[in-house]
Amino acid sequence: MRVGILGGGQLARMLVLAGTPLGLRFRCLDPSPDAVAGHVSELVVGAFDDPAALRQLAAGVDVITFEFENVPASTTELLLQHATVRPHPRALAIGQDRLLEKQLFARMGMGTAPYQPAHTLPELRAAVAAIGTPCIVKTRRLGYDGHGQVRLRDASDLDAVLARTHAELTRGNDGGLIVEGFVPFQRELSVLAARGLDGAIAVWPLVENVHESGILATSRAPAPAVDAPLQRTATAFITAVLQELDYIGVLAIELFQLGDTLLANEMAPRVHNSGHWTIEGSVCSQFENHLRAVLGLPLGSTAMAGGGHATMVNCIGELPPRTASLHLPGVHVHAYGKTPRPGRKVGHATVVDADRARADAMAAALRALGQARPGEWPLTR
Ligand code: AMP
Repeated sequence: MRVGILGGGQLARMLVLAGTPLGLRFRCLDPSPDAVAGHVSELVVGAFDDPAALRQLAAGVDVITFEFENVPASTTELLLQHATVRPHPRALAIGQDRLLEKQLFARMGMGTAPYQPAHTLPELRAAVAAIGTPCIVKTRRLGYDGHGQVRLRDASDLDAVLARTHAELTRGNDGGLIVEGFVPFQRELSVLAARGLDGAIAVWPLVENVHESGILATSRAPAPAVDAPLQRTATAFITAVLQELDYIGVLAIELFQLGDTLLANEMAPRVHNSGHWTIEGSVCSQFENHLRAVLGLPLGSTAMAGGGHATMVNCIGELPPRTASLHLPGVHVHAYGKTPRPGRKVGHATVVDADRARADAMAAALRALGQARPGEWPLTR
């Protein structure tokens, strides 16, 4: 069976690596000839709105899927004419827009941060006045890893700050903004699940995520100190969203926890960074389950594997020293084959252990190792 993937970054690469043992063949489309999925699969180099490139991606594949959600509607319409596309683009359209996401979450009975949409500067002023400070102004579309958002505190020059914020966030886009009240959460969690073509749903245990400078730094699964009611709430919520969207594939939803309460922040209609631990930590990884789902195959188990506690550490900007990191027992390093650059996700590492504290200690030891020397990890095939 052949799978086409829109996007050729590390998520596509890990999908390919998960699907290869199943005998699957892959073709990815990416604007960059250096896209790292190209090291392990066929790569079509072209823009995501280039009809010829999209037709080339679609030729002869059984299904097309995505490694990211920010795809123009014209692209998904064209793909639908030429191939089976899963998940359905309607989920992508919602995942692209923070307002539509929040409206969906509310319909599914889940709370969110208080919010108000805005376009013009007077609307932004009115929205900030209604929500109050502190608050976060975000672009409705195309934000990622803390980009496209500004945090506002009460300030004597709030009017001037709002004018600057409006100019900064609406430059070069459609001008849609959303003002969110600042949630004093205790921690960030995510819930991931797969839904198959037959409607079967498999949910992974809640994951605890820590961000640094807006980028995911570590994930721990199962999230420590989650009681059964909290897990049940998350499971029921993601199940409702999957069913509402008639969704096929893996879906991730980011949550804030305040005591016994969960609030939904955003969803990703794809495999997700907070699910990378599933490669070693789950009986079936998010990547394999996504492929099983979009190809109409039975889903694999989302039970914990290899000891029961997984800790994932992102490598941002640099990988750890190769020899020293491979000396650490039980540490699985995933180097994405990307050229190191500040702020870039170039790899991750996962430890799985029967003991939560031991998994965390090993992850901390890995983080303490520092950075690889230039060229230490192979970058090309
Ligand atoms: P996002 O792009 O929405 O995932 O936001 C990036 C990060 O900013 C989140 O992971 C949170 O740490 C923080 N954040 C986003 N929205 C809020 C909010 N309404 N209240 C508090 N923190 C937030």
